Amino acid sequence: MSEYDFDFFVIGAGSGGVRAARMAAGHGARVAVAEDKDLGGTCVNVGCVPKKLFTYSAHYAGDFEDAAAYGWEVGACGFHWDQLIANKNTEIRRLNGVYGRLMDEAGISLIRGRAILTGPNAVTVEGSEYTAKYILVATGSRPVVPDFPGNEHVITSDEAFHLAALPERMVMVGGGYIAVEFAGIFHSLGVAVTQLYRGPLFLRGFDNDLREMLAVEMRKQGVDLRFESQVAKIEKQGKAFQVTLKDGSAVEADLVMYATGRAPNTKGLGLEVAGVDLAENGAVKVDNHFCSNVPSVYALGDVIDRVQLTPVAITEAMCVADHLFGEGALADMSYDNIPSAVFSHPNLATVGLTEEEARRRFGEVEVYVSSFMALKHTLTGRDENTFMKLVTEPGAGRVLGLHMMGEAAGEIVQGFAVAMTCGATKAQFDATIGIHPTSAEEFVTLRTPRE
Ligand code: NDP
Repeated sequence: MSEYDFDFFVIGAGSGGVRAARMAAGHGARVAVAEDKDLGGTCVNVGCVPKKLFTYSAHYAGDFEDAAAYGWEVGACGFHWDQLIANKNTEIRRLNGVYGRLMDEAGISLIRGRAILTGPNAVTVEGSEYTAKYILVATGSRPVVPDFPGNEHVITSDEAFHLAALPERMVMVGGGYIAVEFAGIFHSLGVAVTQLYRGPLFLRGFDNDLREMLAVEMRKQGVDLRFESQVAKIEKQGKAFQVTLKDGSAVEADLVMYATGRAPNTKGLGLEVAGVDLAENGAVKVDNHFCSNVPSVYALGDVIDRVQLTPVAITEAMCVADHLFGEGALADMSYDNIPSAVFSHPNLATVGLTEEEARRRFGEVEVYVSSFMALKHTLTGRDENTFMKLVTEPGAGRVLGLHMMGEAAGEIVQGFAVAMTCGATKAQFDATIGIHPTSAEEFVTLRTPRE
């Protein structure tokens, strides 16, 4: 009989926590998961999944316009936000159920309530104490809004998923994934969007060509994109808001949304009681195996603030479960070549190094680009560019970075990410036969490097 109630106690039923729990249970561990909100965490409830459903909805706006060029007569179109929200909620509830069933079938004990560590091997949930050989902190992150006068008037992505009605005018603050994606969604759904970003060009960390190209496309569509813009204060004026910028100018809006990053959820978890070291921003500090300075306490996903992406948390979870309860056969987590997509309008997707980073690391590199109008728009006349870019070692060597802006960029780049993980070279890209006519074939037909 074990001295502990459980072998593995997971705090947080998000993507990372549930995957770690299921894998550990599969290895024969006795596992509990504690959760005080809906099952599935940010991704399922207020992140990736409902956001992607919103982007599908938003893309119909352009599709209806384009349909006429293909012979379709589309009658009067109306959009009903409440219908979208209701259907989205139904799907999220279904997914909550799927998460519950998956844990149930794996023999995992689901404990409802807020878990607090009371020692290196002990947790209380709503007054009941549980002991465990290992505790996994998978509590995710939450949106942060900076301090400034009037910040109580803003919403974050959490609330954006439950708006009672669409505003006529909105201000979006931030220049990361969430700000760019929601600016595109709301604009396509008919909201007049002003996006404010504090730096010279949004999407810092992405390849510069992609950043510039997307800014051009969003402005063509009518998003009022303002860089080097910082909010000084927000005042309520009747039902609207006056957003005053640091340069003295002002923008009026019916809704102000902040998407200025997410902070690890470690407050009030009892981590100090257990002696767990935190970074300055509250993230749990972990080693290569996701172990904190306390040998029985592990952490992964957004709460360790390495890469805030669901598939990364899931991969980290598989490493943890394998390390603690499996054969230890999985290699250490690699953070190289993590593909990602921004579901902006148009989409961006990327894998590997930006041109700037590749030059910094490798000195000389070759850059291949292609910028064109997708075949679909030859009939519709829609003024939207597709852009593809490869960054390679000179002499048809390894492909170091692959970047795309255009329809289905995420779907396309996912496939090429496999090739990149295998260390594919430009020579191998050249030897690959294209699928015609697609946009993706450009990646294997780029022959002349940019001067
Ligand atoms: P990001 O970290 O991506 O971006 C935050 C943005 O807010 C940056 O542009 C940043 O500017 C700006 N910012 C930060 N602090 C301030 C401030 N005090 N005042 C004004 N602007 C500020 O965070 P998000 O909130 O967009 O998203 C959180 C994470 O969620 C992302 O990092 C991503 O990993 C994940 N995510 C992934 C998605 C996907 O895979 N498609 C979709 C949505 C989210 P600066 O660049 O100057 O620092």
